[in-house]
Amino acid sequence: MTPPSATSPSTSTSTSTEPAVNQPEPPSPSAPPALRMVDVRKVYGSGDGEVVALDHAALEVARDEIVALVGPSGSGKTTLCSIAGGLLHATEGVVEVDGRDITHLSPSELTDFRRSSVGFVFQTVNLVPFLTARENLLVVNELGGRRNRNGSRARARAEQLLDELGLADRAGNLPSQLSGGQRQRVAIGRALMNDPALVLFDEPTSALDSKLGDQVVHLIREEMKARGTSAIIVTHDDRITHYADRTVHIEDGRIQA
Ligand code: ADP
Ligand code: MG
Repeated sequence: MTPPSATSPSTSTSTSTEPAVNQPEPPSPSAPPALRMVDVRKVYGSGDGEVVALDHAALEVARDEIVALVGPSGSGKTTLCSIAGGLLHATEGVVEVDGRDITHLSPSELTDFRRSSVGFVFQTVNLVPFLTARENLLVVNELGGRRNRNGSRARARAEQLLDELGLADRAGNLPSQLSGGQRQRVAIGRALMNDPALVLFDEPTSALDSKLGDQVVHLIREEMKARGTSAIIVTHDDRITHYADRTVHIEDGRIQA
């Protein structure tokens, strides 16, 4: 596989067509950014119980770029990832992923979008406990993520990912038979099954000791760069920001310039 060259943040105004889902193409100079959030506001609840989780947040993540998102607990990091990944709607503002405006998608359109365009890796690894490592990757395909990918292609991709993640000899193990670091690697493989444009890592190392955490972030960087995939890595850990191309700070729902 040829790693695509890094691109600078695109200032192009090109309105690209639908994301190319099947062939991971090297980004062209006119490719839209992986993520563009403009003036995003998110308010939970209403009246006296209103919480402003994001306030006029703006963030652009270029193709092939890895951004570390750092901020104190409650500053809006998970909310930002949830909105970028189409799990939540913004209260105000515009969200574009891979050139597609997802701001006003319907719930079923959002479900399709999530399956095809983004990957999630959460702090607590939520693998299916009664499925093996391999099956935890394949379940993505069976949920309908890539309707035109047949079973054997999906199996080949799962094997390739497990191999790259150093899990070839663990493919048949259940999550309970894996270490914490191995489980997190399975979760990374699962997030990559559908060749997403953007992967959102929400504190992927907080449950790991610092050495394992370091290895996992190193691996995340290698996997992202080999594919030209963009990522946001939420972390409290300043050491992890070394592995990112850029660090963005957030406080009280505001992204610091
Ligand atoms: P972080 O991930 O940086 O810890 P969050 O995005 O989880 O921050 O939360 C940002 C703010 O929004 C916090 O004040 C939190 O309490 C609040 N919040 C998060 N989710 C909800 C929710 N579902 N309902 C109400 N308030 C929420
Ligand atoms: Mg959080």
